[in-house]
Amino acid sequence: MIYKRSSQLFAEAEKVIPGGVNSPVRAFKAVGGTPIFVKSAKGAYLYDEDGNKLIDYINSWGPMVLGHAYEPVVDAVIEKAKLGTSFGMPTELETEIAALAVSMVPNIDKIRFVNSGTEACMSAIRLARGFTKRDKIIKFAGCYHGHSDSFLIQAGSGAVTFGSPNSPGVTEGTAKDTLLAQYNDLENVKTLIEANKGEIAAIIIEAVAGNMGCIPPQKGFLEGLRELCTANGILLIFDEVMTGFRLAKGGVQELFNINADIVTFGKVIGGGLPVGAFAAREEIMNYLAPLGPVYQAGTLSGNPLAMAAGLAMLQSLNNDAGIFTRLEEKTAYLAAGIDKVLKANNVVFTINRVGSMISVHFDANPVTDFQTAAKGDNETFKKFFHGLLNEGVYIAPSAYETWFITDALTYEDLDFTINAIDKVSKTF
Ligand code: PMP
Repeated sequence: MIYKRSSQLFAEAEKVIPGGVNSPVRAFKAVGGTPIFVKSAKGAYLYDEDGNKLIDYINSWGPMVLGHAYEPVVDAVIEKAKLGTSFGMPTELETEIAALAVSMVPNIDKIRFVNSGTEACMSAIRLARGFTKRDKIIKFAGCYHGHSDSFLIQAGSGAVTFGSPNSPGVTEGTAKDTLLAQYNDLENVKTLIEANKGEIAAIIIEAVAGNMGCIPPQKGFLEGLRELCTANGILLIFDEVMTGFRLAKGGVQELFNINADIVTFGKVIGGGLPVGAFAAREEIMNYLAPLGPVYQAGTLSGNPLAMAAGLAMLQSLNNDAGIFTRLEEKTAYLAAGIDKVLKANNVVFTINRVGSMISVHFDANPVTDFQTAAKGDNETFKKFFHGLLNEGVYIAPSAYETWFITDALTYEDLDFTINAIDKVSKTF
């Protein structure tokens, strides 16, 4: 495939945007080459500035669970835009989407909308600290909760792709309040709690991890965290920015039947517009201003275009009884196909999958935490990425990312992808 115009556009972008991109992983630094500039997208496909068509397995890093330019979302945004794009005043629409979200997700009474997943997680932590009157939090190595200071401690996703899991610019004072645990290691969490008795406000976790590739929680891990939190007056925060409205209507809480105390959202909840949200039971949410003392605000929070997109998306998911089964079946089909061709080509690999989140790790051992995820063979990943790109299949340009399957993918698309993987893996 030819990426001439994309390369030219990237060179122009580099002059005026740091690294040519507004979010680091987009720059292809981990895999080499220059990023692809998108012109448009529809359903499961991206169309780039050089006229190439690509099957998209990133889907804007998650939001496009029903495909690009999904008509109900696009129509809702167009209609709302004609009525004004921002007011900084309450609208009925905000209550509508809040009520629908609260009805779909277990164990939440109230929800507040913000503009990104980062804001949602940052605000959730502040709320947890205000509510418990404690300072420290526990996060897990390789989990990513956005780029706010408290979370850039052994963070996953772009932070680890670029070798800065602990970013300069985060003060020691902030870093010391973030305790680090290993994913799927309950004993490790117990030890941290013992060593910091009465000081931990919250444990925040991607209950299905997606920022070190996809890593499922092992049996008993989330249950154990729930028990530890309850026993020690710690709030359990599920970061469902990736998993919310993707793995099930009610996210991981529903999928594994475990209650979190605070849940954060992003991606799907905004239908592709900049939206995040955090939610909890009433007692906790009432700690927020203007009812309570914990301050949190936003000029564009609850923006009508964003809320219209989010509402159309949630309504579509809520009204489609088969959606999560279809996503599961399509992703299982893809996983089985990849497994078959990689084995046939003697590739060393592990596939991790939960619902429509899947990742291929180029290592034979089970991938259960950040350390095992980091063992993947990056040189093979690079060949895999560029080989697939050449075949017209776009996966994330980093081994530390998950693929997000969209319902817009047909079985022909999946077969095309499996054949492409077969072809590419013969060249390893
Ligand atoms: N939490 C998780 C689990 C995420 O995957 C992400 C983004 N990939 C975030 C938080 C941050 O969201 P945003 O990029 O919208 O700030």
